[in-house]
Amino acid sequence: MAHFSDIIGHTDIIRPLKAAIDESKVGHAYLFTGPAGIGKKTLAKAFAIRLLCQDKTGNPDCRCAGCVRTKLGNHPDFITILPAGNTIKIEQLRQLQHNLFYRPLLGERKVCFFPDAELLTEAAANSFLKILEEPPPGVVFLFTAVRLDLILPTIRSRCQVYQLFPVSGGEITEALVKKGMDPSEASERAKLSQGLPGIALSGLEQAQPGQLPTLTTILSSDLLDLFKLANELEKKERRDILGYFRNWELQARQELLTATGSSLGQAKINELIFIIEKTGQVIRMIESNVNLRLAIENFFLNIKI
Ligand SMILES: [Zn+2]
Repeated sequence: MAHFSDIIGHTDIIRPLKAAIDESKVGHAYLFTGPAGIGKKTLAKAFAIRLLCQDKTGNPDCRCAGCVRTKLGNHPDFITILPAGNTIKIEQLRQLQHNLFYRPLLGERKVCFFPDAELLTEAAANSFLKILEEPPPGVVFLFTAVRLDLILPTIRSRCQVYQLFPVSGGEITEALVKKGMDPSEASERAKLSQGLPGIALSGLEQAQPGQLPTLTTILSSDLLDLFKLANELEKKERRDILGYFRNWELQARQELLTATGSSLGQAKINELIFIIEKTGQVIRMIESNVNLRLAIENFFLNIKI
């Protein structure tokens, strides 16, 4: 999940959301609207991370129990309500209401996220208006929808509404360049995306099938992506996994060779030496038949922390 700092654009919305947390003035229901790819779900989830952070910082490197669990995608107080079939049903909301009467398990808040709020039927919505209006302490509802007029007025009127507008080409270009894209290509892609960061980024973050990320990609990935990668790796043959780690070790060695005497700086050189040492360790662990998953996850944790 992305943090506020990873979001492209929308600073005019992020500012009041952060302020609400900092000043302890968090509302009990928020609705974010905008077309597909504009970043409304990413924004709502970043807000959820911040709401559930027990250190109240929500920094990407925060290691409080709340942040660790949101990173792993299994925070017990972050409840996502997806449609069952084509709509969100009364029965789902009954279960939700039941759950909301229990105190949060980890921190002080529970966040209920409805990513497709336009799929709430009128009957279902009516069944939980009361709790939406006066939720138990600490409960925050987050809704996202493509258009405001698709949201029932009864829901809309109980929410703080934020409409997301297309992001400037300059901000999208800058974000793409930061991800390593050539500036002219980034500017072209930003233009084509028409202010929708999700479109500008699409396809960039998916590795080609059968092709694993390079060492550079791994170093710039977040822990959640690396755990997903660990999941993929675990399914492969031990021999192949060894091959990947040897390859990453080789990439680090090659980079170190070109780094020595160049302008890369001591910090980067130290990082590469550290990676070579850790890849060596994980290779030995895999060769000695240890728990594969544990060895792989340990490696990723070591190089990220
Ligand atoms: Zn935290």
